[in-house]
Amino acid sequence: MSVHTVKEIVASLRRGEAKPSEWAARILECIRRADGRVGAFLHVDEEGALARAKSLDGQPVEGTLFGVPYALKDNICTAGLRTTAASRILENYVPPYSATVADKLASAGAVLVGKTNMDEFAMGSSTENSAFQPTRNPYDLERVPGGSSGGSAAAVAAGMVPFALGSDTGGSIRQPAAFCGVVGLKPTYGRVSRYGLIAFASSLDQIGPFTRTVEDAALVLEAISGFDPHDSTSVDEPVERFADGLDTGVRGLRVGVVTDIQEEGLHPGVKQAVEQAIAVLQGAGAEVVEVSLPHSRYAVATYYLIAPAEASSNLARYDGVRYGRRADADTLLEMYERTRSEGFGMEVKRRIIIGTYALSSGYYDAYYRRAQQMRTLIRQDFDRAFERCDVIALPTAPTPAFKLGEQLDDPLQMYLNDMYTIPANLAGIPGISVPCGLVEGLPVGVQILGRAFDEQTVLRAAHAYEQLRGFEMPVPALEGSA
Ligand code: GLN
Repeated sequence: MSVHTVKEIVASLRRGEAKPSEWAARILECIRRADGRVGAFLHVDEEGALARAKSLDGQPVEGTLFGVPYALKDNICTAGLRTTAASRILENYVPPYSATVADKLASAGAVLVGKTNMDEFAMGSSTENSAFQPTRNPYDLERVPGGSSGGSAAAVAAGMVPFALGSDTGGSIRQPAAFCGVVGLKPTYGRVSRYGLIAFASSLDQIGPFTRTVEDAALVLEAISGFDPHDSTSVDEPVERFADGLDTGVRGLRVGVVTDIQEEGLHPGVKQAVEQAIAVLQGAGAEVVEVSLPHSRYAVATYYLIAPAEASSNLARYDGVRYGRRADADTLLEMYERTRSEGFGMEVKRRIIIGTYALSSGYYDAYYRRAQQMRTLIRQDFDRAFERCDVIALPTAPTPAFKLGEQLDDPLQMYLNDMYTIPANLAGIPGISVPCGLVEGLPVGVQILGRAFDEQTVLRAAHAYEQLRGFEMPVPALEGSA
């Protein structure tokens, strides 16, 4: 299967070699051929995509995403197009409005082709918590694509779309990007509007791109960033031209390596690949400095109090009255009970129960308040570290992709997938995952973190590494038993 970057597609449109409708048709054909095996999409909007692409035919190619087909994670609302968050409770939900990111991409001329699979309400690390279907890793169909944005990651990896958006609350863009051998970027909290993103944990959620190259990630980030009056947490920072200046190299850039990083559970192959990636940056003139993040060891525990607490409150709105599914019942209480029992999957229920407990009177101080205090300490660790360095390099996930079913019975093991990604969400800082090799034939990623609103430096370091790493990610052959 041939794969294309955003940049290549726009260049071909500019040269007049193809029309937007031809690209859309090609991409749809590619999805038809590959997605039976991968299961990346929950719905493909063939008609809408073709109509929209046709309307662009003959128009001048303006901007960097004009005519480019793309996909959205199914927790990003699209007016008139079903948006389920991969939950039974929203199975037939058709939003009356589109998320700001979808509007922005539409006005940039990008063409939405479909909505991608995910863990229900973005809770999970394998996409196995989808109420509808599993998604398979294009590099090995017996393995998970990571999660929760596994559908978006797999769609880009398999060449079904040149880019897709996901959401990252504790690692849900970066971890699946690492598992699927693509680039995944979580912007600074507040950089991209969350308006129209189905809320999981509002103080952590952030939308970002999956792409094949760092440069494409910069282009998509620029298109979706910016202040939005509909999202009170979006920040009024100027939107930079992130793709400019990518080529300035890393000479003199201070790259932090974490001396007290948790190594329990870290696959030796991943460790080695990440060390090599850091050596590549060093070889290009970056200065490696040691930094300490002493409280990051508590990040997973902290996250699993704060995120469920916020989720328990955000998910209270699915009561059978205002949204989506409603169960039949004789009394109101019974209706609530049945709607939520039938509508939510196991993991979502687990989070609601944990979150409600952590917030309940008598436990609030012991759990929720302490978690908030720990969050501050974790953020302060980063503030101190970034006095000594410009970016921090570390693994994205501790292991390569695991097998379908392998971690389903062990939620704690599943939660540990995010040990290296969660700290950035708690601190609100940007992070990217870039493929840094294959371990046992499976892609792994190096994660680069930066200061809040300094995506530019993160992208510059990631791009330099990508140019110098000395290998191309092989295109997955989509072989396996599925
Ligand atoms: N895997 C983490 C969780 O289940 C993170 C998910 C996410 O970033 N949306 O909460």
